[in-house]
Amino acid sequence: MTGPSFFGTDRMSDAHAPITQDVLTIPRKLPDGPTNLVGLTRDGLKEALLAAGTPEKQAKMRTGQVWQWIYQKGIRDFGQMTNLSKDFRAMLAENFVIELPEVVSKQVSSDGTRKYLVRIAGGHEVETVYIPETDRGTLCISSQVGCTLTCSFCHTGTQKLVRNLTPGEIIGQVMMARDDLGEWPEPGKSNPPTTRLLSNIVLMGMGEPLYNFENVRDAMKIAMDPEGIQLSRRRITLSTSGVVPEIARTATEIGCQLAVSFHATTDDVRDKLVPINKRWNIEELLAALKEYPKASNSERITFEYVMLKDVNDSDEDAHRLLELIKGIPAKINLIPFNPWPGAPYERSSNNRIRAFADIVHNGGYSSPVRKPRGEDIMAACGQLKSATERARKSRKEIAAEAGLS
Ligand code: SAH
Ligand code: SF4
Repeated sequence: MTGPSFFGTDRMSDAHAPITQDVLTIPRKLPDGPTNLVGLTRDGLKEALLAAGTPEKQAKMRTGQVWQWIYQKGIRDFGQMTNLSKDFRAMLAENFVIELPEVVSKQVSSDGTRKYLVRIAGGHEVETVYIPETDRGTLCISSQVGCTLTCSFCHTGTQKLVRNLTPGEIIGQVMMARDDLGEWPEPGKSNPPTTRLLSNIVLMGMGEPLYNFENVRDAMKIAMDPEGIQLSRRRITLSTSGVVPEIARTATEIGCQLAVSFHATTDDVRDKLVPINKRWNIEELLAALKEYPKASNSERITFEYVMLKDVNDSDEDAHRLLELIKGIPAKINLIPFNPWPGAPYERSSNNRIRAFADIVHNGGYSSPVRKPRGEDIMAACGQLKSATERARKSRKEIAAEAGLS
């Protein structure tokens, strides 16, 4: 059973204290600089064009044209927007830029996984991971620098500094990856390639997407827009630790697939692993999840379950899990724990994971075990944390917080 040393001092000292979003916000527009068009909604783009002097009558058409250049063709230079008049292009160049976050480094794993370190305004860094598979390619994107939550098994949760990413920084990760994969149509051709290298997006990188709801929503709307990147809402999965009040909005305002970091079958254990459980417990979370599929017209909810040796991986846990999720169309994604320096847990044995998966499977649910990808470059789930930020908390602090010292 669980040794008490796994738990102990919680990072959240008061169970009833509100979980504040202690994040920095930056304005979308720098005071004097040109406006970056990347990340504006369609309405926002139209307003920006109007404000720069586009005649009212032309605004809708111009918005559509500029939108397509940016998101369908991947063009960054206004001079190349050949269906716009020279004067209009000059006006755009004077007032606007089309800018992505800067890629600081790229590492490629022996299994083909690519990890990008991306620098955003203010000099902060986030990580983005591309995972190629035979029939598709998934981009795992970040929604915040760090995370205000402090799940005890997650490397990102040990990062002190947190700021919300802007819509441009979120969709910019997708555009940056398409640049690297060479996945924009060749000049002169408008159709996207038939087999897409980047076919799926998962919001499973750094950060809690539902604590940055509006920006994530606006970015995903851009990803889904039929005149742009054109990814179906079924190919986008948002993972949340359980921000219950935002779950219904995710269904109605984004409509993507939902994954939930469940990870435990009793409130006692979940309070320790996913401290947001103290705010919204398992019962409240399940009530919100029950409503999700019909509200979003999606199929199944993915229950993510990290396999931690002697913590949450017993046969009893598997049976309890089946009881809890009764009536929810679900798939259980078992994630072998990915270690990081100073982590206070161990991965469950393969036999234990198999036994757990069999019980869930025999209960009538699909129970795939997530294959760790990019382990050699620390790109697997929960390992993301940029090197610069990594230095900020010491091993000693991490150990103390997990109750190990
Ligand atoms: N903040 C969101 C998205 C995060 S990461 C969330 O918590 O859902 C995607 C998944 O990786 C989550 O289920 C998360 O709990 C899990 N994860 C975090 N750290 C991990 C680790 N070290 N090993 C395995 N999975 C981990
Ligand atoms: Fe944040 Fe998700 Fe990591 Fe928890 S698992 S600390 S919510 S990124």
